[in-house]
Amino acid sequence: MLFSPVSILAVTVLSGLMSMAVLGSLRSAAIPGLTYWIGANAVSIVSFVLFAMQGHAPRGIAILCANGLLAYAVLLVLHGCRLFFGQRRAWWPEYAALGVMMLAIAYWTYDTPDIFVRIAAVSAFHAYIYVAVGWLAYRARPPQRPKYTYRFVTVVAFLGGAGHAVRGLTYGLGLIRQHALLEATPLNVAFLGLGILMLPCLSIGMVMLAHDRMAERLERLANVDELTSALARRAFLAQAQAMAKAVKGMKKRLFMAIVDIDHFKAINDKHGHASGDLVLAHFASVVAYNLRSSDIFGRLGGEEFAVFFPADEGEQAAGMIDRLRVGVSVSRCKVAAGELSCTFSAGVDEYRDGEPLADLMARADHALYAAKSQGRNRVAAAWSLDLEAESAGPL
Ligand code: GH3
Ligand code: MG
Ligand code: MG
Repeated sequence: MLFSPVSILAVTVLSGLMSMAVLGSLRSAAIPGLTYWIGANAVSIVSFVLFAMQGHAPRGIAILCANGLLAYAVLLVLHGCRLFFGQRRAWWPEYAALGVMMLAIAYWTYDTPDIFVRIAAVSAFHAYIYVAVGWLAYRARPPQRPKYTYRFVTVVAFLGGAGHAVRGLTYGLGLIRQHALLEATPLNVAFLGLGILMLPCLSIGMVMLAHDRMAERLERLANVDELTSALARRAFLAQAQAMAKAVKGMKKRLFMAIVDIDHFKAINDKHGHASGDLVLAHFASVVAYNLRSSDIFGRLGGEEFAVFFPADEGEQAAGMIDRLRVGVSVSRCKVAAGELSCTFSAGVDEYRDGEPLADLMARADHALYAAKSQGRNRVAAAWSLDLEAESAGPL
């Protein structure tokens, strides 16, 4: 009795209500697609209640409406997923397929009653939706996000798709004989269980997706500077440390550049703080555009930034930062009063295996100070300052 189709339906209604409660608690986060997932659970609950009335209610309600609503519920799941992944919500052939499925159910309920063809038609529609959801979660995962959640949704959805496909085929080809949809044969219970329990399982996946989106937002808030989109100081240091650790013992050479905008206070004083902010954002976008994916770029504070990057040798490293300098100096930033330009000075030095990053930054900072005192809008390398100091010293 516990595994009878009706008790599975009852359990599913309860879990649908719970899914709605959990998804509802996330509404204030305004996750794209979330309202569709909540709606899908609500619609499916109504459909499960109608299914449970089979044999007691008219066929138009217990068969036609129940199947139509359940198919619509899974379609809502798919549309919610599309919105979640930033895609266009609906694709008209899906509504057309839903209509065809409804016509097929009506025909094989009223005109030529045939439960097997009906099940095959319904299963085909569900199989398509589940495979589409699984494929979407597989393909559209944002590259930096942990795989677990997206794989979970993919596996659940593909299992659902496979279950429905097998169900559709076995009934469609007449491999199974039974008299009513809710008859408690072992295979029927297995198929119904798989078909019905898929939606709650998928709802758990939707909750996981919503949580991952919220975690992504929080991580971004903590790690990325809002004004410039450069890494915030702490995240910059953490990523630089991780890169230094990753190349330990390898031949790869790493460099740090401390970059400071020249006479930035004058820009603020002359054009206002808001224009200063625009210049900062513009500067950072030019730098970020010209860096490679291997380079780490962060805002240390105010108008001071840092780049931690691999290079084959010192000259190449300093040359790379100098090209950035030229790129920034020739670019123009639009502000209320017209167009502004800015320059920067930078100090560069090489990372020494195993040293604390603070030591490296102190040396690069020292070189920056030299670049400033030599007239600004230039790049100074710490190693050439050392040479200068040596040659200037007493022999
Ligand atoms: P130098 O060439 O020696 O670097 O001169 P500077 O004027 O760039 O340096 P200074 O350190 O004297 O001034 C930096 C200014 O940057 C002072 C501060 O008000 C401004 N600043 C810091 N953070 C922000 C910010 O987020 N937005 C704006 N608009 N200004 C900022
Ligand atoms: Mg400055
Ligand atoms: Mg400064």
